Amino acid sequence: MLKEFNVRTRSKTELLDITNEVFNAIEETGVKEGIAIVYVPHTTAGVTINENADPSVKRDILMELNKVIPFDDNYSHLEGNAAAHIKSSIIGASINLIIKNGRPILGTWQGIFFCEFDGPRTRKVFIKVL
Ligand code: ZN
Repeated sequence: MLKEFNVRTRSKTELLDITNEVFNAIEETGVKEGIAIVYVPHTTAGVTINENADPSVKRDILMELNKVIPFDDNYSHLEGNAAAHIKSSIIGASINLIIKNGRPILGTWQGIFFCEFDGPRTRKVFIKVL
């Protein structure tokens, strides 16, 4: 079963909490035990799992990514978004979730984040449930 939803990002770089959207999509499939692959079909975005209790965590992640991979740095890629491509590859385009009793297993402090590195834009998220 394949589910899909759009997200609207509001900044150039942003970690957007999509935990509820992912949970709802998985719930709609009716699958009780299995695997969900959350995938973003973009070369300048990613998806990751990290703490969503304290918003300072996502700010720190973005701050350090932006420090390590600066927006301007003599890149060869002429489109002007080389940093976004690099961040996308470091974070990755997919995550796997284990579904138990109809819900993904997440730790108490874990949330699922869409990672925008070249926004603001409207983006897609796919969820394949097996
Ligand atoms: Zn590019």
